[in-house]
Amino acid sequence: MQDDLERVLFGEAEIAARLNEMAVQITEDYRGKDLTVLAILNGSLFFMADLLRRIPLPLKLDCLRVKSYYGGTETTGRVQYDPQTLPDMSGRHVLLLDDILDSGHTLAAITEVLRTEPGLLSVKSCVLVRKLKKRAREVKADYVGFDIPDEFVVGYGLDYQERYRNLPLIGILRI
Ligand code: 5GP
Ligand code: MG
Repeated sequence: MQDDLERVLFGEAEIAARLNEMAVQITEDYRGKDLTVLAILNGSLFFMADLLRRIPLPLKLDCLRVKSYYGGTETTGRVQYDPQTLPDMSGRHVLLLDDILDSGHTLAAITEVLRTEPGLLSVKSCVLVRKLKKRAREVKADYVGFDIPDEFVVGYGLDYQERYRNLPLIGILRI
């Protein structure tokens, strides 16, 4: 798989070190609060598993399957998910977890939905990778692993046509 990459951006050790730092910060910020992590699948699968095991808080975990790409390398801007899979959020502090912040459509759409949930205490968001670019939707991520230029990356959960998610590092694909 690595031969299909044009360039490696972040190797396994670098990702692990950054996850340690993010976990410390999140743990401090949510200590004593009823934290629910809402992970957006499939992209955040590896990030979720590795980050959450570094957070020693009795958090709750829910997952939401969201689609916006349909196989290409550009977002369609239509964010689709099944509203019935969204759990009851009342009384909870929610931390949204996604693999990457690109156009902003996904985080903006899900954050908007969550804000209408009755009794929700707070919403913050956390992404492993943030692309430095002008976004279609102005959204901020509260916790960011790495900033990258506006290039299409794969690995560590990020796919190209559903492949390369299991690559243990993040890189730019040779297309
Ligand atoms: P956004 O809604 O911010 O445009 O992007 C959300 C989703 O698009 C991400 O969760 C991810 O699945 C996909 N995406 C955006 N940029 C990239 C990229 O560079 N590589 C891959 N593999 N997926 C991306
Ligand atoms: Mg994807």
